[in-house]
Amino acid sequence: SVIAERVLRRRSLHMHNKQLDWQESPEGQRMLEFRKKSSLIIKREHITELLFSQNQVVVVSGETGCGKTTQLPQYILESEIEAARGAACNIICTQPRRISAMAVAERVAAERGEKIGESVGYKVRLEGMKGRDTRLLFCTTGILLRRLLVDRNLKGITHVIVDEIHERGMNEDFLLIVLKDLLPRRPELRLILMSATLNAELFSSYFGGAPMIHIPGFTYPVRSHFLENILEMTGYRLTPYNQIDNYGQEKMWKMQKQTLRKRKTQIASAVEEALMAADFKEYSPRVRESLTCWNPDSIGFNLIEHVLCHICRKERPGAVLVFMTGWDDINSLKDQLRAHPLLGDPSRVLLLACHGSMASAEQKLIFDKPEDGVRKIVLATNMAETSITINDVVFVVDCGKAKETSYDALNNTPCLLPSWISKASARQRKGRAGRVQPGECYHLYPRCVHDAFADYQLPELLRTPLQSLCLQIKSLQLGSISEFLSKALQAPEPLSVQNAIEYLKMIGALDESENLTLLGRNLSMLPVEPKLGKMLIFGAIFNCLDPVMTIVAGLSVRDPFLMPFDKKDLAESAKAQFSARDFSDHLALVRAFEGWKDAEREQSGYEYCWRNFLSVQTLKAIDSLRKQFLYLLKDVGLVENIESCNGWSRDEHLIRAIICAGLFPGICSVVNKEKSISLKTMEDGAVLLHSSSVNGQETRIPFPWIVFNEKVKVNSVFLRDSTGVSDSVVLLFGGNVSRGGLDGHMKMLGGYLEFFMKPELAATYLSIKRELDELVQR
Ligand code: ADP
Ligand code: MG
Repeated sequence: SVIAERVLRRRSLHMHNKQLDWQESPEGQRMLEFRKKSSLIIKREHITELLFSQNQVVVVSGETGCGKTTQLPQYILESEIEAARGAACNIICTQPRRISAMAVAERVAAERGEKIGESVGYKVRLEGMKGRDTRLLFCTTGILLRRLLVDRNLKGITHVIVDEIHERGMNEDFLLIVLKDLLPRRPELRLILMSATLNAELFSSYFGGAPMIHIPGFTYPVRSHFLENILEMTGYRLTPYNQIDNYGQEKMWKMQKQTLRKRKTQIASAVEEALMAADFKEYSPRVRESLTCWNPDSIGFNLIEHVLCHICRKERPGAVLVFMTGWDDINSLKDQLRAHPLLGDPSRVLLLACHGSMASAEQKLIFDKPEDGVRKIVLATNMAETSITINDVVFVVDCGKAKETSYDALNNTPCLLPSWISKASARQRKGRAGRVQPGECYHLYPRCVHDAFADYQLPELLRTPLQSLCLQIKSLQLGSISEFLSKALQAPEPLSVQNAIEYLKMIGALDESENLTLLGRNLSMLPVEPKLGKMLIFGAIFNCLDPVMTIVAGLSVRDPFLMPFDKKDLAESAKAQFSARDFSDHLALVRAFEGWKDAEREQSGYEYCWRNFLSVQTLKAIDSLRKQFLYLLKDVGLVENIESCNGWSRDEHLIRAIICAGLFPGICSVVNKEKSISLKTMEDGAVLLHSSSVNGQETRIPFPWIVFNEKVKVNSVFLRDSTGVSDSVVLLFGGNVSRGGLDGHMKMLGGYLEFFMKPELAATYLSIKRELDELVQR
């Protein structure tokens, strides 16, 4: 071991000398100059001192762009090298997104005059650049979690840096629980937590009062323009309803607004309420009229284009950063802007997108200053909020929405729906415009909507459906669910955790001792609620994925059927046409969707939607989700060939059974009376059908059961959507017979199924059901 030590020392010395040589070179000098400008440098001594002392955990917070991500891990590496331990240290720095892990590693290697894979490397899912001499590794949080699966003590790692913890992503919160457990077992391990905002106390106290370091920052003032000011300033008019873009939607929105106002129910979200309550009197009639056309459901590409034109024509020089919700939107917007005479002219505008598979050449363009007279416009996701800092940004365009990060630790599949950002995010986005000089921020939503945003976003751990979260804990093999969750920074309610576990056992995703079943494993890999995941899996097994994917996509986006208050009757009868008297909202959805696809093929999609009171936006969202499902299912191994989708069955009875398999125990019994129908669920007793349901107007429903996805309580309990199912379908497809056998199953159904109590029939059903459950588990 004396020899080994000597080798280590020699290698460390070599690393040191190599760095000194590089710093002498002109490029090295330039990099050193750049690095010296980071405001972190003033705390450098302090930081390394803290790390060398007895403190196992240190919390570092500071303004975005101050150099936490690129400088701090390097400081640690450098001090280790200077202390002749360079070859013995092993630093891991986690990033919430793969893009930043790769981009940062590349940057840090460049600052050290090295190629990536030498002393600095990265590892993300399915990709990595890491060599024998790599001492500083940037990876996604998911990668470190996976490593913890096989290497519980992180053998050989000397420092773990968890970056961007202020985002409170689920993986990061997860990781903190695991690391907190690990620290006593590894007293020499050092943990550094890095955060952009000022909630450092929370993390410090979680780790028993760990020391905090705050790096002061500075930003120039940035002026905010909200939608009403933008309309006033630029003279733009939002697209009046029934034209172009989201034809139909705008008018519908206006009508929905009236509906909501009249009914005064709690359907509206905080944002919608704010909009309804807003008093637009202070604005000119033109702006007022235009605001009523604003559609909170869609991002107005035309509006963005207009604002960008305004900046290019009227404003001082400076780069523009546009915050979009996701990669799809960025691509479509980029296409639209390319066709524009000014914005698409490369001699005047440099149009860039900031994304995952970005090549390093393109990445460089994002940070570089463009030629004189050319304006740089960067289209980015909320990644540019805190992970990536572009210094020369003077103008920010903020669409106000973001796709929330995913909960799927191993697959890192994106979450599907964009939602409103928080005030903290809006402030952060705005601040991006003031790095080098005073800036301007264009918020593409009215001020009243901004005022209705939540102050901070809820931590992902608390907004992720618990059922999915529990599956995740199990698939990461983190032990008892409730014990694990009780140790979180902010733990969910114990009772809801219990309910979630109970539910997962009932649907057969967990066994009695809380182990993941095969079904559970598959469900944990699909980024939808378990009940919807179960439908997809059944759809794949029974070869009728095509209609099932439409139903699942519809249930995870929202109902495409619009119900304007003043045209309620018309809308309801339009929807009823799709039902063909088969007593199912879910089958009606499939018909409406397929009708739209046919109409699209004949270029009459918009007319079709207008005529049938359907939302084009929602149908488009459903369509794109369906495609994502297919890739996911292929990835999991449930679909062999994506091209072979045409041969799928659309047997109505089968689809009904699969709906039941997913939605159970969302079930209610049906008794047809003389003049009315009596409906009962186990938990609520008597319930009613929502009038928007195709079953809402029926006087007789020829099914003993109805399954549903959602119920709402207004005065009575209403079932929003429903599909009629038969006794045998409930017996065979509902729940999981391994829990309490057929008797238990029937008890759960409230003893309505007297017929099946006949012993010989019961035995037959039981054995078929067993086989079916086993088949699904396989
Ligand atoms: P923080 O993590 O504190 O938000 P960073 O370490 O990401 O800060 O960034 C520090 C500085 O380095 C910023 O001014 C940023 O613009 C710059 N920077 C980061 N990556 C690159 C890059 N790839 N090319 C040029 N400059 C970069
Ligand atoms: Mg950072």
